[in-house]
Amino acid sequence: MIRDLRVYTVLNSMLKPTIKVKLWTDDGRCYSASVPSGTSTGMREAKELPINKVRKAFNVIRKNMITLDEEDWVNADIFLKEMDSTDDFSKIGGNLSLAISIAFARAATKGELWKLTGRNLRADFPLPVCNVIGGGSHGGGTAWQEFLIIPHRTYSPMEATKTAIEIWATIGEELAKKGVLLGKNREGAWMSKLDEFETLHFLAELAEDWKFRIGIDFAASSFWDGKGYKYGDKVYSPDQHLDIITQLAQQYKIYYMEDPFHEDDFFYHSKLTKEFGKRALVVGDDLYTTNLERLKLGLKAKATNAIIIKPNQIGTVHQTMGVAKLAKANSQVLVPSHRSQETYDDWLSELCLALGAPLIKIGMADIPKLNKLLVLWNEVPDARMSKLPLSSL
Ligand code: PEP
Ligand code: MG
Repeated sequence: MIRDLRVYTVLNSMLKPTIKVKLWTDDGRCYSASVPSGTSTGMREAKELPINKVRKAFNVIRKNMITLDEEDWVNADIFLKEMDSTDDFSKIGGNLSLAISIAFARAATKGELWKLTGRNLRADFPLPVCNVIGGGSHGGGTAWQEFLIIPHRTYSPMEATKTAIEIWATIGEELAKKGVLLGKNREGAWMSKLDEFETLHFLAELAEDWKFRIGIDFAASSFWDGKGYKYGDKVYSPDQHLDIITQLAQQYKIYYMEDPFHEDDFFYHSKLTKEFGKRALVVGDDLYTTNLERLKLGLKAKATNAIIIKPNQIGTVHQTMGVAKLAKANSQVLVPSHRSQETYDDWLSELCLALGAPLIKIGMADIPKLNKLLVLWNEVPDARMSKLPLSSL
């Protein structure tokens, strides 16, 4: 039974305030959760409210949650949604809702969130999709937001993490040797003077030696001006943008393309998926915002073959699970993802196991989440590393 819960203000990795919730059960245990924030947020994400605004709602929530059975996490999530009564958590805040929801789910699983769906017999560990060179609104020299590597020939979280770190360090050294290194951005990714095309060429050369797959999070809404895609003083129409991506994806064997078009454009996403969907992942992040109705539209349009799962885009664990379930049933690859303003909380790693997700999107600065996978690898019975999706093709 829930004995009490409290909300606190803590700091995220950008030293900005965020929310932490602590929840006590009557057996004396305490469970907590803190929530991250995005920088390049999708326009349909659950609203994040400042703590002074959520406190009032919290007092009512608190009263209603005390005495609930902690195993009843689904009803607790439904209660949060009803209590808010808006589509986007604009009354109580998706940040408050998610912090409570995760703390509750942790209580339901006695602190072992990875057991939430009962997938505790055989656990597939996710391959990391690591942000190594940055741009866009995260900081860096390119319009595209993230250049990603997937060290796929690795057979444990430790091997995958070590390989990713070595590649990331080598990239930093090589950029410095070329005299183009500008520093690190908020996700710990390198920033450089290279443009989009030079960066891709540079990465593709390294990929030969290191055997990693290349990914890009274009975050294309951030350089879409309503008519075209802006690269410095050049503007490309959607057709031209599609041609550029198609040509580069072929030339450099790009394996992972996230938000290649703006967040309302199912049509061009589906054109890319039609062309590459059997050999590369076309991934919806801002396109879907972990929202069931958006996913349904995307499925109808055959827009993607993969989906980013960010629980704070939707506001509860239960809704997140619903989206993941529908996505999986329609052969969409699940990619649970960190945000660019993170906390030390490590629930994302456990969620990957609960969902059976083959990939986790993460930065080099997300040490607690990487560490959680390293520890769980030794604790989870029958642990195995996921295979690269589409690898048989
Ligand atoms: C992303 O766009 O995938 C991302 C992690 O960035 P943010 O958290 O800023 O949305
Ligand atoms: Mg993204």
